[in-house]
Amino acid sequence: MLAVSTLMRLYLSHRQVSYVSSHRAKVPESFADKISLEDHQKAADYTTAKVRFGRLPLFYEVILLLIWTLGGGLEWLNQFVLSYEIDPIFTGIAVILSFTFISAMLDLPFSIYSTFVLEEKFGFNRTTIKTFIADIFKGSLLGLVLSVPLLYVVLWLMQQTGEQWWIYTWLVISGFSLFMMWVYPTWIAPIFNKFEPLEEGETLNRITSLLERCGFSSNGIFVIDGSKRSSHGNAYFSGFGRNKRIVFFDTLLKMLNDDELEAVLAHELGHFKKKHIIKGMVISFTTTLVGLAILAWLMKVEWFYTSLGISQPSTYMALLLFTLILPVFTFAFQPLLSIFSRKNEFEADAFAAQQTDAKYLVQALVGLYRENASTLTPDPLYSAFYDSHPPAPVRIAHLNAQA
Ligand SMILES: [Zn+2]
Repeated sequence: MLAVSTLMRLYLSHRQVSYVSSHRAKVPESFADKISLEDHQKAADYTTAKVRFGRLPLFYEVILLLIWTLGGGLEWLNQFVLSYEIDPIFTGIAVILSFTFISAMLDLPFSIYSTFVLEEKFGFNRTTIKTFIADIFKGSLLGLVLSVPLLYVVLWLMQQTGEQWWIYTWLVISGFSLFMMWVYPTWIAPIFNKFEPLEEGETLNRITSLLERCGFSSNGIFVIDGSKRSSHGNAYFSGFGRNKRIVFFDTLLKMLNDDELEAVLAHELGHFKKKHIIKGMVISFTTTLVGLAILAWLMKVEWFYTSLGISQPSTYMALLLFTLILPVFTFAFQPLLSIFSRKNEFEADAFAAQQTDAKYLVQALVGLYRENASTLTPDPLYSAFYDSHPPAPVRIAHLNAQA
């Protein structure tokens, strides 16, 4: 499976690079009056540079996975922690956290390269070394504070609640994700970005009237300093219930005029109105339950450990091995998730076309494609496999039909 998924990834990345490169010379007909050749070529170069760079961590991940399992890396780490003879649950936490820390350190060169070389080269990087380091510290600290109690509860349930542990664990994990979604907008996101209420004025009036028209209540419309890290623009909703926030990146406000901004917001509201958030949660909770059921079965069979290079079965090792090898098997489901996501994007676009005018969303999207150097000519197979959003020409054509 590792060989199959790796070859598939390489094949897709090869297709994307050659397709984008072969369409580099000319702006697609439907964009010819809106996007200059220079911008089109920048997008092509940016896209291929990112895909080409992605191959290196791909090989690196495969090698690391083999070293951790068959190469005896995890076995060594486990024996090392076991030699301290601490409480079994804390042994589990120590092994999992050490593994996470070492993996994060090993990944660091790639995120440094991506931020300070690749993004920099195309003029998108705004992250300073200071912000980069501060992010790592804040992220690690937050990760520790949140993961230690959760791991403790999960490992305790795995050991103490018998055959049904996976059902209790599922309830705890689901409750924890809901809690995180609830606290994220007000408590977590502000650790990394500065939030300021959108200033009074024409933009705010337009947005407020759109929200009223759609019967949507939130606890605030905010602007964050996205420009602190990157010049890419974005907007999002977060939280649920009454704790919902609408968040615009300052970079997006610079890119779009009020009509376009209203259209983008209407699209985001469409995701709420069409219940995409809830559907996504149902899918995620269901797959977690299935995953835990499979883990409950694997945990009891010896070959699961021995075939992955572990001599001493334990609950925490089962959990760690499972999460480590899972992506190799779930890769095959990626296209299904992409189909679901693209279907939602079309629905949200249709909602925006009803609430505002499709032509403003088209303008906004074209502006965003240009400013973010997104390719207008992705390889169809690559796009079908990975893309959460419809390819630019398809999406624009759909919207134009509704204008
Ligand atoms: Zn969307």
